[in-house]
Amino acid sequence: MTTELYKSPAIANAPADKLTAKAETCAHENTPVDTRIPLVGMGRKELAEALTEFGIEPNKVRMRTKQIFQWIYNYGVTDWDAMTNIAKGLRAQLAEKFSLNRPEIVERLVSVDGTRKYLIRMAPGIEVESVFIPAVSKTGALCVSSQVGCTLTCRFCHTGTQRLVRNLTAAEIALQVMVARDDLNEWPSSAVERKMTNIVFMGMGEPLYNTDEVAKAIDILCDCEGLSFGRRRITVSTSGVVPDIKKIGEKTQAMLAISLHACNDELRTKIMPINKKYPLADLMEACRNYPGLSNSRRITFEYVMLKDMNDSPKHAKELIRLLEGIPAKVNLIPFNPWPGSPYECSDWETIEKFADRINAAGYASPIRTPRGRDIFAACGQLKSESEKMRASERRKLEKAGKL
Ligand code: SF4
Repeated sequence: MTTELYKSPAIANAPADKLTAKAETCAHENTPVDTRIPLVGMGRKELAEALTEFGIEPNKVRMRTKQIFQWIYNYGVTDWDAMTNIAKGLRAQLAEKFSLNRPEIVERLVSVDGTRKYLIRMAPGIEVESVFIPAVSKTGALCVSSQVGCTLTCRFCHTGTQRLVRNLTAAEIALQVMVARDDLNEWPSSAVERKMTNIVFMGMGEPLYNTDEVAKAIDILCDCEGLSFGRRRITVSTSGVVPDIKKIGEKTQAMLAISLHACNDELRTKIMPINKKYPLADLMEACRNYPGLSNSRRITFEYVMLKDMNDSPKHAKELIRLLEGIPAKVNLIPFNPWPGSPYECSDWETIEKFADRINAAGYASPIRTPRGRDIFAACGQLKSESEKMRASERRKLEKAGKL
């Protein structure tokens, strides 16, 4: 195992909702906090508003917004002096008022299989995980978080054991992509060859409990003068928040994935308590009505393989019945257990037979290769490990009388 652990130097970065914070000193490091307004993560509209408030002449706001937007999201610059089409004097004034900082990477882990996992501190107490998963082909996906923690308690999910701290802002979602693009060294965004081609909302949290900010973030990610992701390369994965499924489709034209994991209400409610509120019949109806659904825009159903729970031939039959009439693909996910998790992963042979049955019914059913197991790649694991580490460090310090 060649897991690499990297801790970056602290970069102070005020959260988007604290734009008016007064100058203060960071309690831990005794260094001044950067109180400039952070621009990275803003959409065009917010950027234009910030520039207007700053005093850019009304007839130049549009041009300046376009220039700065491109420098931030196409070129990934972190230094005002790189913006060579803006006069030096104006650059200096902008630099006094606005920062181009990135949030702090608390931990960066690289797996033997190339998976990269980041724990990013957006603000004190607000730490989120993102995972870059390189594919065998030329594509690779960044899995981003939409909340810190989660209110849902899906029993196979490690994040489900963590309390919800808060929803992430659109800026904080976009920043996860910026951090990964920095790390992959993939600027400018307009470069033809990129490893990070897809974005999946499958990290911490339920995206459809934060629909508006997720939709705003998708607009930033898909702007063709910036990060330039195609809308079909963005997938929003939900545990089944039925009322917002249509809304996210209409607002973003993103691809939809459903965390299904069971094919009858009794079992699904056991594994995913949200099923009680939105049972399978309602969920499947919402899927059938997903905007733009077609054979070329299929819904992905995620199905985690849990030994002796949902992996029998009877379950496969029920699943096929459930999917009837929906252009669908089924991703079979070997369960990635964590210490104390209540389930085991199905045997490989069982998974393969299950896949064959689904496939024979006409649904693509790839088995997801487990990735990044050496770096706690299951959602929510890195945050817990980091907290555990800090707790044990704290205990050591307490013991030594330093706290
Ligand atoms: S699977 Fe998603 S919705 Fe369910 S507990 Fe985990 S993070 Fe929350």
